[in-house]
Amino acid sequence: MIIEPGSYLFSKIECRDYDILLPFSCRKTGQCCSVYVPRIPYEHLEILSQYLGLKADAFIADYQFYYGKKLKGQAVRCPFLDDQNLCQIYHHTLRPWVCYLFPFSYGGEVIPSCPAHVEHRQLLDCLVAGGKEYNVYDSGFCPNLELRPIPEDRWLGILKRFQSAPSLPELAVSFVAFNEP
Ligand code: SF4
Ligand code: SF4
Repeated sequence: MIIEPGSYLFSKIECRDYDILLPFSCRKTGQCCSVYVPRIPYEHLEILSQYLGLKADAFIADYQFYYGKKLKGQAVRCPFLDDQNLCQIYHHTLRPWVCYLFPFSYGGEVIPSCPAHVEHRQLLDCLVAGGKEYNVYDSGFCPNLELRPIPEDRWLGILKRFQSAPSLPELAVSFVAFNEP
């Protein structure tokens, strides 16, 4: 199986003969976006304002105001975050890569304010427990997007390790969908 670049966030655990894919599942708290404004080029802002049905001039002026505060070191809410704490351009191809790659864009340190990242790291620790034979890659840094299937005789042990840490039901479903032989 080939992992589609840009399709979702994941960690890939490379073992000697097979790979384990751990998808990242955002809990949509909006926490990260309520203290950050990404840099977005002017021409992208024009397209995005059109996409949102907003007047480009007013929206861009608004964005520049908030981005200017961010440049001064202030924690500013992103103007693309809506009242339900959801990103209004989440499914648009012009959503910045820094957003797409969060929380993996922070050099591998676990981010305590992101509950999904804390959960992800706990699961990762369970899956690589005791593993000298492992390499672990995150979405943006994975050199080989081909996924080697897990042998049947290893699957139940891996599933047990996954189940030894708490996870959301939808994450368990996608973990099985990606990895079950
Ligand atoms: S563009 Fe979307 S994902 Fe990026 S910081 Fe703003 S609200 Fe969050
Ligand atoms: S802080 Fe984490 S869980 Fe919350 S929206 Fe951001 S990435 Fe998702």
